Amino acid sequence: MFNNWKIFENILGFIPSEQIKQKLNEYYKILLEENAKYNLTRIISEEEVYEKHFLDSLLFTKEFKISDQNILDIGSGPGFPGIVLKIFYPETEITLVDSNNKKVNFLNIVIEKLKLERIVAKHVRAEELARIENEKYDVVISRAVAYLDVILELASRFAKIGGQIILLKGPRADDEIKNSKNIDQKLKLSLDKKQILEDTGFGERINLFYSKKQSTPELYPRDYAKIVKESGK
Ligand code: SAM
Repeated sequence: MFNNWKIFENILGFIPSEQIKQKLNEYYKILLEENAKYNLTRIISEEEVYEKHFLDSLLFTKEFKISDQNILDIGSGPGFPGIVLKIFYPETEITLVDSNNKKVNFLNIVIEKLKLERIVAKHVRAEELARIENEKYDVVISRAVAYLDVILELASRFAKIGGQIILLKGPRADDEIKNSKNIDQKLKLSLDKKQILEDTGFGERINLFYSKKQSTPELYPRDYAKIVKESGK
């Protein structure tokens, strides 16, 4: 049983409540069981899942206050960061989307077994949902889904004007910013903050916080093939 809660305290400034710990433990158990049937994540050791998935999903909250926002997690995979956010912040309204049906089935198993409320998992490609859910979310978040210019194009339309797009990135975020040229201007976004975390104990992380200033130009998002073809990647 995981017991290094000190690392949560060191990084987040608090130790999770017993109820949260219990939910995380149950989540880990389901992840292991289901991962044995089909591949959900390469990271399965207890310490790594709690640190590189659970804690990593929350690092951005050191810079950004979560309350009762309506949040979209694009490409949630096995639930990072969306399920972890729901466990820590039950007052949020969360939508998880993923284009992989197995991942969505897994998300629904977790939602049901953990009795999570006001959270839905949708099997859909983000670029197909974007025009249907135009400007619906206070916060659009995504971890490890695509290169910066690609994920920004997928995410921007979903955010309300004045809303945030938060991208949980690794140490190469600066290269991605450089290679993505002025995608933020094209999408009417502005990069407000860059959170650099050098000493997490599990690798450097950089999180990017964008805000949406105006409606997304009609052109975006384009077809996925076109987005990827023109990416600075
Ligand atoms: N966010 C999770 C994490 O950090 O562990 C999963 C990351 S995984 C590398 C990328 C996920 O994004 C996959 O589950 C994939 O199916 C999903 N994905 C990729 N492109 C997508 C798209 N256009 N729309 C929806 N989901 C997408």
